[in-house]
Amino acid sequence: MKIKDLARQLNMNEKTLKQKMSENGFKIKAKDKDIKDSLAVKVIEMLKPKEESAEEKKSEGKTISITKTVTVKDFAEKLEQPVTDVITVLMKNGVVAAINEEIDFETASIIAEDYGAKVEREVSEDSLSKEKGVREELKEVWQFQDQKRLRKRPPVVTVMGHVDHGKTTLLDAIRESDVVAGESGGITQHIGAYQVREKGKLISFLDTPGHEAFTAMRQRGAKITDIAILIVAADDGVKPQTKEAIKHIKEAKIPMIVVINKIDKPEADVMRVKKELADNDVLTEEWGGKTVCVEVSAKAKKNINELLDMILLVADMEELKADSEAKAIGTVIESNKTAGKGVEVTVLIQNGVLKKGDAVIIGMTYGHVRSMEDAQGRKQEEAGPSTPVRIIGLNDVPLSGDILKVEEDLKTAKSKIEKLKKYEVKSIKKESDEEKKINKLNIVLKADVQGSHEAIMEQLDKLRSEDV
Ligand code: GDP
Ligand code: MG
Repeated sequence: MKIKDLARQLNMNEKTLKQKMSENGFKIKAKDKDIKDSLAVKVIEMLKPKEESAEEKKSEGKTISITKTVTVKDFAEKLEQPVTDVITVLMKNGVVAAINEEIDFETASIIAEDYGAKVEREVSEDSLSKEKGVREELKEVWQFQDQKRLRKRPPVVTVMGHVDHGKTTLLDAIRESDVVAGESGGITQHIGAYQVREKGKLISFLDTPGHEAFTAMRQRGAKITDIAILIVAADDGVKPQTKEAIKHIKEAKIPMIVVINKIDKPEADVMRVKKELADNDVLTEEWGGKTVCVEVSAKAKKNINELLDMILLVADMEELKADSEAKAIGTVIESNKTAGKGVEVTVLIQNGVLKKGDAVIIGMTYGHVRSMEDAQGRKQEEAGPSTPVRIIGLNDVPLSGDILKVEEDLKTAKSKIEKLKKYEVKSIKKESDEEKKINKLNIVLKADVQGSHEAIMEQLDKLRSEDV
């Protein structure tokens, strides 16, 4: 090796090194440029710090984690060994690496063994958070989309507002306004999402269990809603959850349509509601703002079509597009597992087309799309952008907000998930070690669908106690 390099590894200049070498009886000339590797090892052993032998024990039985590669310096730090010492051991194993050079995982494992330590593969933060990785990919898909293949897609709408202001009644009224949807029934079962047709155009509605689930999803980075409907009862006005919903919608930076409901009631006071909204920075036309406002009666089914028209108008301005040919990407709205049907997952397709038979990964689960049906329970062969579908064929229950992604085949899907699972187990282990000293209260929580489950979980999580 070059003397210059050896000097660098030992953190000294060439001249000092040569001086030290001759002081210690090595034959070296001022003009020498190279040194035999075997000799270099001896030089390093001689010049390394003396406290080394005491240090050696430190690595015994230790497990260190490194990523794909590690610099010699970082590796030595993790081993808690002097760098020079590690460089020597590397050399003994036929690897010549300077302090800032990288060695690969395999090399590190071999060297660590020499110190009685074990090396395990560390996963970078990005791949650790299971969705982050997929989401990055998702972003890429969006970025490198073939512009020519982009087609208009239906808007995805969520309804939010204070409890009892008529969210469910409104969603039912909208669903019933569509003859096609009404005919095939299916209203009795819990449907997390559905589509209606207005003037030949489709609109997708999400029926998430209130804004808690919406928030939970958003916290996980899922952006699934294009337009938010803020529902306010005309006889009750702006209430705490109305304010919360306003906050969420503003944070999500999506257009808002105000629906003032229950106008059939004698106590209804639309002007008061609009004033209260203005007090909360939601300015309707009367208050000099641009927020679209529709007055309805969900119960009497009054002005429902006007509302749908408004949604289409707002959607038009948003220019919502998606690739209608690519492999599908979507987000889980809700999921559940029943003894009879197994795992059922409602997914909103966001880009591309999901086909029956596709191999998919969803969050930490995978499977084949064995069967697929729309919100009315009709069997589907494929589903395009903005379409909510219920699929069967997953091996486990994913979480709301998990990303669906189509893979090459089942084998690829399976191996990806198995890899992710290994990482997850590791990160859980780490956590539990830290939490050992805290008293735990185990709770078994059972809910109809994953969406409600998560909403309740979030509420439970807000309960704080010193004791547990
Ligand atoms: P949610 O909690 O927001 O889902 O509210 P619901 O849809 O369950 O409605 C709460 C109550 O308000 C129910 O008793 C509904 O029948 C009633 N309601 C909803 N919309 C209207 C309406 O337009 N007019 C009247 N009079 N009552 C309504
Ligand atoms: Mg409700």
